[in-house]
Amino acid sequence: MIEVLERSGLRGRGGGWFPAGRKWRAVSDHVEERPALVVVNASEGEPLSAKDRTLALHRPHLILDGAQVAAESVGAEGIVIYLSSPSRPLVRALHRSLRERRDAGVREVPVRVVRTAHRYVAGESSAVVRRLNGGPSKPGFAPPYPSERGVGGRPTLVHNAETIANTALVARFGDAWFRARGTAGAPGTALVTLSGSVRHPGVYEIDVGTPLVDAIGLAGGVAGATAGVLVGGYAGTWIAPAAVAHLRLTPDEVALGCGVLGVLGGHGCGLSESARIADYLARQSAGQCGPCVHGLRAIADAMLRIAASDANPGDLERVRRWALQVTGRGGCHHPDGAIHNVVSALEAFPDHLALHLRGMPCHGWADGALPPPPRSTPGWR
Ligand code: SF4
Repeated sequence: MIEVLERSGLRGRGGGWFPAGRKWRAVSDHVEERPALVVVNASEGEPLSAKDRTLALHRPHLILDGAQVAAESVGAEGIVIYLSSPSRPLVRALHRSLRERRDAGVREVPVRVVRTAHRYVAGESSAVVRRLNGGPSKPGFAPPYPSERGVGGRPTLVHNAETIANTALVARFGDAWFRARGTAGAPGTALVTLSGSVRHPGVYEIDVGTPLVDAIGLAGGVAGATAGVLVGGYAGTWIAPAAVAHLRLTPDEVALGCGVLGVLGGHGCGLSESARIADYLARQSAGQCGPCVHGLRAIADAMLRIAASDANPGDLERVRRWALQVTGRGGCHHPDGAIHNVVSALEAFPDHLALHLRGMPCHGWADGALPPPPRSTPGWR
């Protein structure tokens, strides 16, 4: 099965698009020391994403099938479904599906469901391991990697729920079937969550490589003009209106992340959106690394001043300099994603930027905006 998965070219749909077969092999290489554990990560900390909980709610057996295939393939003796806390209907759907499997007399690797706080970084694989080891859902520091020594010291395969569901399909229909969709570099389909100024926001399945405009068309198209699109979620890339028509949704062309497509209405302001996303991401820091704690806060504050058309002299230059200084200096990739969002907004919206720096008013937050980031900050468990 690991060879079939490698041939299928399936890449992880949680954000990193890492080859799934390589992950499975890394875990199975370590099972001689101790049996492995499979973790299905459906915590979905990205505020604009709804694909994993939609999938778990409507196709729980597909996820459970994939988890069983993964467990048998890598030599795991347990499976954990990892959810974030505002997920009661999901927990009920999963428990009902587990009961149905038991009632059907299927002998399977045991499954347990674990919930954690709904935090942005709680789904990072080392945070998942730390939480399941009884600690906070904050990223840990590697090595050792989860595939070597994860939960309880066992080799641990942490996979996003959509990825696991895809492995069930690869097991059932084969690698050639899977490769018939998508691109050569990223085969298969992907679930995308469309929000903002589209007529029918929701979760849609597309072939990887689908043009961005066609994906927006699935959601009924834009209500009016568009001022830009955020691709890949809060750690993603802002696409300027003129570039929207030319972009294909593949991880080799754009940071597709977890498949979030946030469409700004004609009067929206990508710069203002980016500022409030930066503020949210600064509040989501796990407070363990200086560049993340202080750098993200300083960048977010400067961006908020710029977005309010109340910038201090030199704010823009400082944001650009701090972005270079902070990138790659966190224990995890959280600061890199936040900075990617800010830098891409500065590049994509030069007209808005000039307006804000001249102190002109902007109504972007009120009109044509994306759903705002959550205000509450839960604990770490
Ligand atoms: S970079 Fe930020 S989120 Fe990541 S481990 Fe360090 S403090 Fe935590």
